[in-house]
Amino acid sequence: MGHEYETVIGLEVHVELHTKSKIFCACPNEFGAEPNTHVCPICAGFPGMLPVLNKEAVELSIKAGLALNCHIAEVCKFDRKNYFYPDLPKAYQISQFAMPICQQGYLEIDVDGAPKRIGIHRAHMEEDAGKLIHQGAITETLYTLVDLNRSGVPLLEIVSEPDMRSAEEARDYLEKLRAVLLFAGVSDCKMEEGSLRCDANVSIRPLGEKKLGTRTEIKNLNSFRSLERAIEYEVNRQKERLEDGGTIIQETLTWDEEKQVTRSLRSKEEAHDYRYFPDPDLVPIHISRDWVEALRRNLPEMPDQARERLMKEQGLPAYDAAIISLSPDYLAFFDACAARYSNAKVVSNWMMVELNRLLNLHNMNISECKINSNDFILMLNYIDNGTISGKMAKNVFEEMFATGSSPDKIIQEKGMVQISDEKALLQLVRKVLEENPEVVRDYKNGKEKALGFLVGQIMKVTKGQANPGLVNKILKETLTEE
Ligand SMILES: [Zn+2]
Repeated sequence: MGHEYETVIGLEVHVELHTKSKIFCACPNEFGAEPNTHVCPICAGFPGMLPVLNKEAVELSIKAGLALNCHIAEVCKFDRKNYFYPDLPKAYQISQFAMPICQQGYLEIDVDGAPKRIGIHRAHMEEDAGKLIHQGAITETLYTLVDLNRSGVPLLEIVSEPDMRSAEEARDYLEKLRAVLLFAGVSDCKMEEGSLRCDANVSIRPLGEKKLGTRTEIKNLNSFRSLERAIEYEVNRQKERLEDGGTIIQETLTWDEEKQVTRSLRSKEEAHDYRYFPDPDLVPIHISRDWVEALRRNLPEMPDQARERLMKEQGLPAYDAAIISLSPDYLAFFDACAARYSNAKVVSNWMMVELNRLLNLHNMNISECKINSNDFILMLNYIDNGTISGKMAKNVFEEMFATGSSPDKIIQEKGMVQISDEKALLQLVRKVLEENPEVVRDYKNGKEKALGFLVGQIMKVTKGQANPGLVNKILKETLTEE
């Protein structure tokens, strides 16, 4: 019993392109409006309406393709993908089948400290469908509402090769893909708003086997955590099934976030089920090499380049550099701080520990954070010149995060200034020594721990405001004098 299996994962990621208007009509591409207010006869699928391609959607697709090291097609075209579903008013989706805009790219993730290349099979343009709002879980809903605001929003579907071998690799790939798309400026990639959506194809095969096992496709993965958990669950389910002598059925599953299980939605369609054919309303697109090269020249710094720069120019360890270069906003904050502070590692430590802790706690993005780089540097300076201790600084930082106040104001209001006056501290030290003759004797008899107790007493009477370094120094000096 207990065969060794290899997990094989490929991801299909849909990103909404950050255009001003929809892909085939002039309706605004905007999240969060009242349902069915950004709709016209074209995106509502009225008969006889003609689509007009949005050039900006093509441009953003090319940029994404270049950022993902893809070959950009010289000619691509649109096809109709036919299926019936209440969120698709035309009963077909305009997509790209035979001739996608981007092919054969890759991106790199880190696996056990070494780079691993994950292939990008293709990336194609298509229109988004409307949004169905179910009352409760999709498998139990009593009725469903349709919002067509999203219908016709430009999408790029990015299909990876089945190159990932664990849930962790899949998560790392998705994080890196998100970073690349954010840096390239093609999408805001907000999973919680649906502008980045991910489906996972998962199969297993006996270790050493070359042929791929039967795969299942998991939908409804709304966060990095659901992606990881759903894959882990699905891999175990498939293993148990095979171990029990069963077979895997090719099907589409949904991830039940509440119960943390995958459930069957429908048997998986094959491409031929969709009856793809060229859309007769749209001409093929010829993409000039001049256009592609101009876009390539103007691509901004990408995550891998940013990581290199942080290691070379700021001396950051690879781990820190990788985390800071996962989002352009995060990197911009770091760059603004590091430009005015001599120790980049101190900046990255504060960002990765305290700032991340608070961002996660409040489920916030750094762009929503109230702390500006000026105030942050000011706070670091106050630690360096002894005005506040590192411990106090954490409280100051928390207050800055919550209110956006400057550290000056917070330190003053809370009376947080550290006592670094040697004379004042010396008096306190003498008093504490007088009150604790036994502890002093213990220390002189070689009990090192006694010193800690005395420092603690001084911190207690000063309510934590004494400069601990100075207290230590003065205590030792006084004890040796006596
Ligand atoms: Zn429209």
